[in-house]
Amino acid sequence: MKKRSLFFSLLLSAGLLPGITAGAAKTSGHDHGHAHEAKGNYVESLPKANSFKDLNGKVQIERTTVTKILDEKGDVTGTKTFKKNTSGGEFSTQASTGTQKVSVLAVADAQYRAKYGDWQTRIVQIVEQADVMFNRDHSIDFVVEAVAPWTSIGGNSSQILSNLRSSFSGGKYKFVVGFTANSKFDAGGIAYVYSSKPSGSAYSVNLDQGTANTAKAATHEFSHNFGLNHDAQGSGIRCIMNYDYAYTADVWDSAHNSQISNNKAWYK
Ligand SMILES: [Zn+2]
Ligand SMILES: [Zn+2]
Repeated sequence: MKKRSLFFSLLLSAGLLPGITAGAAKTSGHDHGHAHEAKGNYVESLPKANSFKDLNGKVQIERTTVTKILDEKGDVTGTKTFKKNTSGGEFSTQASTGTQKVSVLAVADAQYRAKYGDWQTRIVQIVEQADVMFNRDHSIDFVVEAVAPWTSIGGNSSQILSNLRSSFSGGKYKFVVGFTANSKFDAGGIAYVYSSKPSGSAYSVNLDQGTANTAKAATHEFSHNFGLNHDAQGSGIRCIMNYDYAYTADVWDSAHNSQISNNKAWYK
């Protein structure tokens, strides 16, 4: 009895370490690693989807954006304009356009670019789809200000995330999101879970699983960047942060909604 409660309190205090949300639902037996790093941040990965699924039709673009096309050195080689289609079009209205605009650099690795000649449009569309929930529920609009090529290096998804961070550090973007078709990437998506405002950009990487599934994974991984952890599998909690619903739900549960509300100031 005594032993057990000691052990339990150890678990509890472990849950109070910086970077880990107290009371966060951590299912025992989850074998995805939390590679702890400096500053209390760690990484979380999402399993792959069961199938490859592209989006049908247009994605919702909340504001007209002239996206810069960068080369390997970060120099601007051109632009691409993505026109707003959220008013007077097939999508609702201005009401769903977030008032907090967050800048994004979206990059695609060599394998991804080899697969898709239109990779620039494709990754912008994924981010535009991935931010629909953020616009609707939190007035946060992800705007892809630039797209760039990336050479992904690493033996697994965690190393590839780390490679993204070192390749694109020191930029002015709030978020840097990588899209990969590297066969070494052994997850659907991966991201840093921040416990406070990151010192630079927030980083995540998503596997090519079709634009629909990749957008789902991107929403999940961006959510990690806001400090969210996973909901326990089997809990029935319908939330994009629950592995059971990550590729199907389009909501966060109330606890996770509060967490985004509290932490969105990190990206002001
Ligand atoms: Zn996750
Ligand atoms: Zn949740």
